[in-house]
Amino acid sequence: MLIERIWSGNSLRNFHYLIACPQSGEALAVDPLEWRLCLDGARSRGWQITQILNTHEHHDHTGGNAPLRAATGAQVLAHAGAAARIGGVDVGLRAGDVIRVGRTVELESLDTPGHTMTHVCLLSHTEEPALFCGDTLFNAGAGNCHHGGEPHALYRTFATQLARLPDATRVYPGHEYLARNLEFTLDREPGNTQAAALLESARRHDPAAAVVTTLGQEKHINTFLRLQNPQVIARLRERFPDLDERPDAETVFVKLRELRNRW
Ligand SMILES: [Zn+2]
Ligand SMILES: [Zn+2]
Repeated sequence: MLIERIWSGNSLRNFHYLIACPQSGEALAVDPLEWRLCLDGARSRGWQITQILNTHEHHDHTGGNAPLRAATGAQVLAHAGAAARIGGVDVGLRAGDVIRVGRTVELESLDTPGHTMTHVCLLSHTEEPALFCGDTLFNAGAGNCHHGGEPHALYRTFATQLARLPDATRVYPGHEYLARNLEFTLDREPGNTQAAALLESARRHDPAAAVVTTLGQEKHINTFLRLQNPQVIARLRERFPDLDERPDAETVFVKLRELRNRW
């Protein structure tokens, strides 16, 4: 499986991905808003885009579908529940569906509500798994729930699906927000040395060269995966004095999400 991350350079800080079969050169484009960059990226590598996948229905993920499809004849795939809202969807996805790209690539569709209620993540069936997680999990952060989402559902997606994936899973989100998210982590946990070290390099790097984290690394630097951490809880109780001394993980997650909304 070949993965090409394409930095949009736009104000929304989108990341696009091409996932290609090394044998056939067939490729799937994930959320190709800046579709010309994706088309040029595929052509320069000798790949043909045969499928377009939207992780969810927001326009900053679907806005490139029509022109890219017109240019390539690619099929469009999206969550079955989002298909009507997106329009022009050929394949509606459900949990457990397997998407094949060329002869060698298999991607499993995970039903991951929270950012919106019709959001899919893709998990590669490879030795070193890769997770294409749209606006659900970001590097060092979590998606917001402002536009059709629900924070308790997002918590359940994190706790019952994403956090259970192998630590070696590489994380490929829909936007580049690493530095800002690390600042939030450090505001919750000023002593988090891994987050501090990564923030220094994140500030220096061109977003096009941003680090690809693993889930194991996320468990150290992503406050939404550190719900039992005593400092995270203590700092949260300063902001939410009604919070129990030993709050459950779901409550911590939802309060962190609430705090992040206005942080
Ligand atoms: Zn979104
Ligand atoms: Zn987005």
